[in-house]
Amino acid sequence: MYHLKNYMEILVDEILPGMLVKENTICKCERCIMDIKAIALNRLPAKYIVSDIGEIYRRYDELGKQLEIDVMEAIMRAIELVKLYPKHDA
Ligand SMILES: [Zn+2]
Repeated sequence: MYHLKNYMEILVDEILPGMLVKENTICKCERCIMDIKAIALNRLPAKYIVSDIGEIYRRYDELGKQLEIDVMEAIMRAIELVKLYPKHDA
């Protein structure tokens, strides 16, 4: 079974929860978390891969640290934006 995946989305899903834990001032409702994801992914180049699940985890090791730093930076900026302009219903 093969999947077409945006590898960046996998990375954001992997990294975002750990960053949210450290953020005390950001709203963590579903809407805000999805907004953070969307903003971060719009800032990152899409990186589509065809793979099975095992392959995805091997890629993670291959692509390594720099990509992870880029993703963390994009998430950080997205968190700041959502903090300033939350779109959830009051
Ligand atoms: Zn919210």
